[in-house]
Amino acid sequence: MISILSRKPRSSAVIPKHSANSTAPLPEPLNQAPAESLGTRPIPTAAPIIALNRVCKNYANNTPALIDINLAMVKGDFLFITGPSGAGKSTLLKMLYGEEKPTTGSIHINGQNIGQLKGDRLAMLRRRIGVVYQDYKLIPLRTVAENVAFVLHAQGYSRKEINRRLPITLKMVGLQDKADRFPSQLSGGEQQRASIARAVVGTPPLLLADEPTGNLDGDNAQQVIKILRRLNDMGITVVVTTHDEAMVQQLTYPVVQIRSHRLYNFR
Ligand code: ADP
Repeated sequence: MISILSRKPRSSAVIPKHSANSTAPLPEPLNQAPAESLGTRPIPTAAPIIALNRVCKNYANNTPALIDINLAMVKGDFLFITGPSGAGKSTLLKMLYGEEKPTTGSIHINGQNIGQLKGDRLAMLRRRIGVVYQDYKLIPLRTVAENVAFVLHAQGYSRKEINRRLPITLKMVGLQDKADRFPSQLSGGEQQRASIARAVVGTPPLLLADEPTGNLDGDNAQQVIKILRRLNDMGITVVVTTHDEAMVQQLTYPVVQIRSHRLYNFR
């Protein structure tokens, strides 16, 4: 049960009006179409932290992975992206992180066109984005503390600042007593919480989580969602993909669905 998460969304993803049952593509690019708030608040007027405009992605074999995707989110939004395996969820997140580039259309993250960034400028933007993966991607021969601190080392933080951030972040994910464990000594849920700590220890304004509960049982999945929710309460914009529609049905955050590589309002 994930009923502890039932509450009103504190934020509203802003996406073009579209019916979940419709099979038609999204009608207009976001910034030309009247947007609809999925939440209870009025449409925010702040500049979007994420803005996709008519994004299409074809991989090398020319098979479409995403077709005509329009989406905008402002700071503080929390959005679930659901849809069946192979629909294009991971591809969308990879493009938000600059790991894949759109074939056509544009993706702006915090006002920067990430599809056109390269080298240091792309690296700088990526530092402001935390990423969580289904399979955790922890470094096996490093402890939890080392895995989390690694990001800060790489970004040139001082030892003093690393020592300040580490305990706060580990406590936030409930791993303060497991800092010296290796990933193989942790449960799946603990590994995922360590990976969340690693993703947010640099206080990024945006967190992308690709099927973060995909390998977890109900209780652990619930804990992970609770942490993501807490991070969102702290002001971090959160995007979560999941194929688990039953889970998102129990929550009240905005949900969009990718079906056959197109994006639809789900709720
Ligand atoms: P999901 O995350 O919803 O399971 P993906 O984004 O992983 O979906 O995949 C969307 C489509 O793109 C699928 O048809 C998949 O086979 C294809 N795809 C994903 N990655 C690649 C790749 N690197 N090369 C070619 N095709 C890919």
